Amino acid sequence: MSEALVRVDGLKKYFPVGGIIFTKGWVKAVDGVTFEIRKGETLGLVGESGCGKTTTGKLILKLLKPTAGKIIFDGRDVTKLRGKALKEFRRQANIVFQDPYSSLDPRMTVFNIIMEPVRIHKIHVDDPEEFVIKLLYEVGLNETHLYRYPHEFSGGQRQRIAIARTLALRPKFMVLDEPTSALDVSVQAQILNLLKDLQRRYGLTYLFISHNLGVVKYMSNRIAVMYLGKLVELAPAKELFENPMHPYTKALLSSIPVPDPELARAKERIKVTGEPPSPINPPSGCRFHPRCPHATEKCRHDEPALKEVGKDHFVACWLYA
Ligand code: SF4
Repeated sequence: MSEALVRVDGLKKYFPVGGIIFTKGWVKAVDGVTFEIRKGETLGLVGESGCGKTTTGKLILKLLKPTAGKIIFDGRDVTKLRGKALKEFRRQANIVFQDPYSSLDPRMTVFNIIMEPVRIHKIHVDDPEEFVIKLLYEVGLNETHLYRYPHEFSGGQRQRIAIARTLALRPKFMVLDEPTSALDVSVQAQILNLLKDLQRRYGLTYLFISHNLGVVKYMSNRIAVMYLGKLVELAPAKELFENPMHPYTKALLSSIPVPDPELARAKERIKVTGEPPSPINPPSGCRFHPRCPHATEKCRHDEPALKEVGKDHFVACWLYA
């Protein structure tokens, strides 16, 4: 098992409701999550909208300040980084956003978009044009694209430019936040394969955030499932799909459409009722209890901790305590 590049310990992020001065309550977007991302792996992070996936990614990159908890990157506490050390961290850890339409400055050429972070980080390159052309080839574009503007490209091509901009800093770690969800289905596979190829070539480590379970399965070595700011299950991707344990994970997996009607009938379908509760006032005990078909009195009062129940398989549920 390779060592961890990122370690997150008891991470919390609460957003004030009604402003900092007249705070009426707190949105507990991330509420005490602990996990690690191993060097060279892709950790998938899944869950419904608003479960805290994107906030977790932003906290790891220090784009948001945590309310509590530790983030260790390559042996260093990210929350304490300042000045030069923080700048170096920003070079090594980067993000590719969901929407390639808004993440690129429409007034800049591709050359300037890719060179901008290189200039900010004062990275010396002998021949900037040659440097950018090389990057364009790495992401499936070429020199004819060098002096064009974002509006001249398709969504898939824009995402390739965004990936090239990130690669220009030769990062170790990338947060991929729904990187294909704004793209046509036909283009999604090309971008996913490009990301896999770049990972192999450069030994990159990814946190892959998505609500699309099929895509997460294709990309990830391990998968973490989040519900209302908490991690409820974490396991190797194959194990999670073949042997899901947490009732919420089972419900998520059973919601994937099965094309074969026979298989669909044979597949156990777990239905959860209702909407996820508000993260401002989350349920006591296990946060999933109002929607869980197995909930008991204990579940309503006591919160289950994430426990290893099999090899590298962790679950937070009283059914396995
Ligand atoms: Fe359901 Fe209880 Fe397990 Fe929560 S702890 S998922 S309510 S069985």
